[in-house]
Amino acid sequence: MFNENPELIITSLDKQIWDEELENFVPKNIFDVHTHIYKWSFNQDPKKNISERNFQGKYFSEVSMRFADQVDQLLMPNRVVNRLSFPFPFKYPCNFEGSNEYILEQTKTLTENKCLILINPNMDKNYIEGLLLKNNIKGFKPYRFYSKTKDTINCKILDFITEEQIEIADKFGLIIMMHLAKKDAIADDDNINDLIYLSDKYPNVKWILAHCARSYSAWALEKGIKKIRDLKNIWYDCSTVCESDSIDALYQGVGLEKIMYGSDDMIGRMRGKYITFGKAWSAINSDNHNLALSHCDDRMTFIRYEQLRAMKRGIRNSKITESEKQDLFYNNAKNLIDSVNSKN
Ligand SMILES: [Zn+2]
Repeated sequence: MFNENPELIITSLDKQIWDEELENFVPKNIFDVHTHIYKWSFNQDPKKNISERNFQGKYFSEVSMRFADQVDQLLMPNRVVNRLSFPFPFKYPCNFEGSNEYILEQTKTLTENKCLILINPNMDKNYIEGLLLKNNIKGFKPYRFYSKTKDTINCKILDFITEEQIEIADKFGLIIMMHLAKKDAIADDDNINDLIYLSDKYPNVKWILAHCARSYSAWALEKGIKKIRDLKNIWYDCSTVCESDSIDALYQGVGLEKIMYGSDDMIGRMRGKYITFGKAWSAINSDNHNLALSHCDDRMTFIRYEQLRAMKRGIRNSKITESEKQDLFYNNAKNLIDSVNSKN
């Protein structure tokens, strides 16, 4: 299945970017804190989103840990990659139980690989606490699609994860992978005030703000980070952020020890780039633009490579040392995950 996948062919452009720009930057040991492990069948309405089906359902209908390993070996040869992984948050109707059983099965025997379970605000407390007795669960993955308000764009944190669920995370010292909602993301006062309130009330919860606190370019971080930089239990992943100014804003704003690598696979392996303008951002790919490109090489490389380029350039001016690079790609994540006092 893997070898016949037309989405996973390395072009001469990919090879050149890896060899010339990334091979010397990416360390040998990696902890990826943001991988989705899932089956397309957990999306219980397969007709509902054509673009999702194309990127997940057609050639990526089952993303096991082994499949994710193969993708990593293809894109980042000779690297050892461990993961904090979690299910894909399909819109309702989503098979939550199946998603969580699958992630548990996939991380069961692998000592370094840990997981988060997918939760929604209606999920039964006993179900969650029952799952926590099993190995390898380090926390929760809530998502804005499950907002109680049905508004998946402008929802607040507590619209898609309840305080009762955060209390459980506090009790066990768990990680919550938070993809902030709202158009201004980390620059939004509701999000900032909620993070301050929740950090104070539930000091054992460890928050990871995904996608540089959903700041795909620097402006949101520049505005919001000074208000939350003193909160000790907040970390950040760089997954799919392709603008170096955002990585730089995070680096300057919170310091390297709070920043971690994430791939967002199987999104990171897609060809294209998250581009930004004004206060907007979106993924550009070869099927959704009309740019005139006859004057240059018009091929696109992997979002992953664009992200790694941004990480490299975003921290270059700070003259990162080899050991800081290991922290960024491995130690920060490993230490955070090891600090979770769940069953194992
Ligand atoms: Zn993700």
